[in-house]
Amino acid sequence: MNFADLGLCKPLLETLEALGYDTPSPIQAKAIPHVLAGKDVMAAAQTGTGKTAGFTLPVLQRLSASTKPSGKGNQVRALVLTPTRELAAQVAQSVETYGEKLNTKAVVVFGGVKINPQMQRLRGGADVLIATPGRLLDLHNQNAVRFDNLEVLILDEADRMLDMGFIHDIRRIIKLMPKKRQTLLFSATFSADIRALAQSIVHEPVEVSV
Ligand code: AMP
Repeated sequence: MNFADLGLCKPLLETLEALGYDTPSPIQAKAIPHVLAGKDVMAAAQTGTGKTAGFTLPVLQRLSASTKPSGKGNQVRALVLTPTRELAAQVAQSVETYGEKLNTKAVVVFGGVKINPQMQRLRGGADVLIATPGRLLDLHNQNAVRFDNLEVLILDEADRMLDMGFIHDIRRIIKLMPKKRQTLLFSATFSADIRALAQSIVHEPVEVSV
């Protein structure tokens, strides 16, 4: 099994080759085809399993396959929610690295730093916005970000977001999303709490675990 077998496009395959990735990790092999097919996915995977590429690669491919302008009016096409600023920065770095040949624009926002530069970066919109929940809501309250054209919502480390008390923020954010979208939920475990949250946000999900 290699990355081409999973259905990834040439620019991504070239990038992966340049990075020296020759074999998909188990979570990548299981998740990527479903994400490419546009399905909702619930994936149980710990940090270090390659989960970031597992959602980033197919999402970037789907975004690049259609030419919807992200550009106008602070619109975002894909949103990745993460529990911490460290993870947000890490995911943003991965999106930049994997998307190098696809011309996708990534923006990252998180709390604890000035909001104004983030508002400015969002002005032209983003293909992928990586955000922590509280700061995202602040930006939305200030009309700095819009989700009318949102195509994909990704919750990364959903269990940690619940542990950190973000459930209300997450529910508020979900209400801002278009109903018709693709949703991916990554979590180390699927506790009862995660399943309860999932029930209201994913639609006929494929479940994968490693
Ligand atoms: P993650 O679990 O997404 O944080 O990824 C863990 C680390 O594995 C990161 O440093 C990635 O660059 C690396 N990685 C992800 N997928 C692969 C792969 N298929 N082959 C080699 N390295 C990988």
